[in-house]
Amino acid sequence: MISNLIKRGVDFTKKNPTILYSLVLIVAVTAIIFFNSYYSLRKFESSTDKLLQSKALLAGNVLKTFGSDLVDERENLQAKIDAIKEQDSEIKDIAILKPGEEGGAFSVVASTAGSDNVESQSTLYAILWSEGEAIAFLDHDEQGRFWNVGDVIRDMDGKKTGIALFRLSLSEHDRFVQSIIDRVYFVALASLVVVLLLVVNHARLFKYELKATKLEEIDKMKDDFISMASHELKSPLTAIRGYIGLLNDNLQGKPDSDEAKNQRRYLENMDISATRLRDLVEDLLEVSKLEQNRLPIRPEDMDLTAIVQGSVNEMGVSAQQKKLQLVNGVKKNLRVSADPERVKQILVNLLSNAIKYTPEGKVEIKSKQDDKFVYVTVADTGLGMSAENMKKLFSKFYRVKSEETSKISGTGLGLWISKEIALKMGGDLTVESIEGVGSHFTLKLRKV
Ligand code: ADP
Repeated sequence: MISNLIKRGVDFTKKNPTILYSLVLIVAVTAIIFFNSYYSLRKFESSTDKLLQSKALLAGNVLKTFGSDLVDERENLQAKIDAIKEQDSEIKDIAILKPGEEGGAFSVVASTAGSDNVESQSTLYAILWSEGEAIAFLDHDEQGRFWNVGDVIRDMDGKKTGIALFRLSLSEHDRFVQSIIDRVYFVALASLVVVLLLVVNHARLFKYELKATKLEEIDKMKDDFISMASHELKSPLTAIRGYIGLLNDNLQGKPDSDEAKNQRRYLENMDISATRLRDLVEDLLEVSKLEQNRLPIRPEDMDLTAIVQGSVNEMGVSAQQKKLQLVNGVKKNLRVSADPERVKQILVNLLSNAIKYTPEGKVEIKSKQDDKFVYVTVADTGLGMSAENMKKLFSKFYRVKSEETSKISGTGLGLWISKEIALKMGGDLTVESIEGVGSHFTLKLRKV
């Protein structure tokens, strides 16, 4: 069961190596925090212990100095010791001892209350007396740790007259160190929780990443499918439109009977539908090429004025059919750096939209320029649109929904394609419009 679990874990890690990053992060951060805290604390503790040892030895020194004068004056000595203990709360016990006659047992000359146990440490006195030097060692009782310090008292001639003993309590210091340890471990634990939260977040992001990669794959499959389907649809559509043309030619020579009239009407409807289908297929092909970066765009130093005139000529018939005034107010000798074929495609799209969505009035194309760009605006007196619609206008398949537009056919792809191409040429395509008044579409192109 456990081995099965491990195997599944290993398999999962192999499939998703980014999870290793999370594991390494948990282990590394936790280890760094704990080891760093542990070593810093140990260092701090040992250096403060040393500091306190020096303090204890210094205090022992002071004690022995005044002890040398007072070792025979029991009362004075007692008063001095009591005063010292009163002043320093870290000093626990003080005792001054004197050896008995002819090397007999040590007896207490003066001691603070609670130093009753001093007499039981006879081995310590013997060592101190024979070594003749100060000693300090760490010890502990039920109240905590303390430095045990002992030193020999000498008279003016250097003769040993007694010993001074005292204990420096470390409990306050230990309490302080413990509170730091608690705080450090708390911070380490809090950091661990933060790391865990980060890892959880990372796991969640990791899930999104997997989803995003999948979506990207699906998106690519969709683009490939649209590209393939559009290609496949293009040839039969060309054939259908060809046959419609042939049938139309055949009908031309026939007498104007009711049947022939009906047939002509059917063929006209068929031609309209086939043309719409062709437009959609062509737009879809352009979209997939743009999305896969396969649409060739070759900018060159081009004559914009000539391209505008060509586009206006091409759209002249449609404008006439709708009895719209088509005005070309673009200045002469405008040169830009762009792909002429693509600029014409955009202008034809803008003009055909302007004509399509303008029931009456005029469509005008004009230009202006600044230091870096030339701006060509296609202005109409048509349906216009609301600010809400303007925001979404350049999205794929977006069409303004109103009673008037529902009667006009279109794919909702033309403006998206035009804007993408304009951006790819280093320009832009923007719109300004007022509902019921008209629209201004402006193509921005880089100057030569
Ligand atoms: P299509 O015209 O094939 O629907 P487009 O992408 O060219 O697609 O245009 C998107 C939509 O923007 C149109 O459906 C129409 O609602 C709106 N539109 C475009 N040009 C104009 C215009 N000159 N005046 C009013 N609305 C327009």
